[in-house]
Amino acid sequence: MRELSKLYHSYIDGQWVNADRKFEVKNPATGDVVGSVDQCGADHIGQAVAAAKRAFPEWAAMGPAGRSELLLKWSDILLQHAAEFAELETAQTGKPIIMTETFDIPFSIDNLRFFGAAARVVPGMATTEYVPGHQSSIRREPLGVVGLIAPWNYPMNMGVWKLGPSLAAGNTVVIKPASLTPLTTIELARAAHEAGIPPGVLNVVTGPGATVGEALVQHPDVRMISITGDTQTGKKIMIQAASTVKKLHLELGGKAPFVVFADADLEAAVQGAAMGGFINSGQDCTAATRIYVEDSVYEEFLSKLAERVKRIRVGLPLDRDTEMGSLISWEHRDRVEAFVKRAVSAGAKVAVGGHRPAAAELAEGAYYMPTVVYDAKQDSEIVQEEIFGPVLVVLPFHGEAQALELANDTIYGLAASVWTRDVFKANRMSAGIQAGTVWVNDHITIVSEMPHGGFKQSGFGKDMSVYALEDYTQIKHVMTDITGRVYKDWHFMK
Ligand code: NDP
Repeated sequence: MRELSKLYHSYIDGQWVNADRKFEVKNPATGDVVGSVDQCGADHIGQAVAAAKRAFPEWAAMGPAGRSELLLKWSDILLQHAAEFAELETAQTGKPIIMTETFDIPFSIDNLRFFGAAARVVPGMATTEYVPGHQSSIRREPLGVVGLIAPWNYPMNMGVWKLGPSLAAGNTVVIKPASLTPLTTIELARAAHEAGIPPGVLNVVTGPGATVGEALVQHPDVRMISITGDTQTGKKIMIQAASTVKKLHLELGGKAPFVVFADADLEAAVQGAAMGGFINSGQDCTAATRIYVEDSVYEEFLSKLAERVKRIRVGLPLDRDTEMGSLISWEHRDRVEAFVKRAVSAGAKVAVGGHRPAAAELAEGAYYMPTVVYDAKQDSEIVQEEIFGPVLVVLPFHGEAQALELANDTIYGLAASVWTRDVFKANRMSAGIQAGTVWVNDHITIVSEMPHGGFKQSGFGKDMSVYALEDYTQIKHVMTDITGRVYKDWHFMK
């Protein structure tokens, strides 16, 4: 990636675009401008989709081994530049460098490697005569041009989670990163170019969701849209995609319950809630945001959690002691702050946080302190709605039945965790919770081999794992007569 250049271009048909209009990307921890980026127009979307359509037959015909080789080569180049990617990701998001170095970038590379390898295993039913005289076989085929729309919270990860399976499956793509964080996606394209991924296979278009994103969703030559974003955005896209009946893959919001039974290791649960609630400044769709604690240990848990949260080191992202950086933008910080103010007006209390940091060096950044709220009502906004910031709410429950009822009582169903030493209870709760991931005695850990994706209004379609690879394909049944007879057994017109 080379120099931390301040000018970033869109990438279409193997060429760098230089659009007349530009927009700035700012470091939300400092306010410094990190880069200036092309603002694409409708003509660019048309060019990118046309390039992807042209590139599709050759890419699809390259076969699993050919695509695998290029994806693995691409991941090797990312590894060589891992430190630069971490620095750039931190600059555009305000995340601590210790997080981008140890999680965002290595996990993105691991994910790409997984899909590079998984490309060579195409699962399906065996070919046989399910009807006598007819041989049935399944073909698993790419769709063609796929539009990928990514959010700002894990820009590199979300980019790779979409690019890996869609390209491995033989599709060609046009990706639109979030406008707040397009830089590492552009650098991903530079590395793909260097790896020899042919022109048109991967195109990057940059600019607002309302124009660039919508143009992609409505384009008749785009066969599928995969978006990670807000539930409201997902609903809009479902409507827009209806006119061309596109396949959709929607990874939307979450409001994960974190259920602590009295028999749990409380120290581990307190640490798990601090880490699971405040990682990435809480801007994580699986973040532990609703902490339900069995009533007999509720007071003890709340006071221990408040003490633990006070020790989270909020600071400048490049400081290696910093555990929590800024939020993504000043507007988003104000939105998070307003949630807490409204909760307090409605009668909730703040155990810790509830304000911006006092340190002068953080004054220019979009910072908000890690905040624990309690005494909120189950049906209140702070319990029901996704805040997507460093705010969690602690509530008591009585008994397993109520724990399950409260855990399932939101429109979301992305992830959840259960904390107990009772293996029977852990398994009953895991079965009953309506969410795409349930952790037992942990929260947040993810792995490339296993799926991630929502139930209910958290969306549908899986990221990571072979299930993601399947999502970016379509299935064709080929049935062949093997008798050679004019009159088949089922012909009643003789
Ligand atoms: P948004 O929904 O605002 O944006 C997501 C992406 O969609 C951005 O690239 C955005 O572009 C684009 N977009 C916005 N409106 C449209 C539109 N009408 N048509 C097409 N594209 C559009 O979400 P955020 O970026 O704010 O991300 C945070 C959200 O993502 C949270 O709600 C979070 O829960 C969810 N999320 C879900 C995950 C999951 O796996 N389920 C993982 C990570 C985040 P632009 O940036 O230009 O506005």
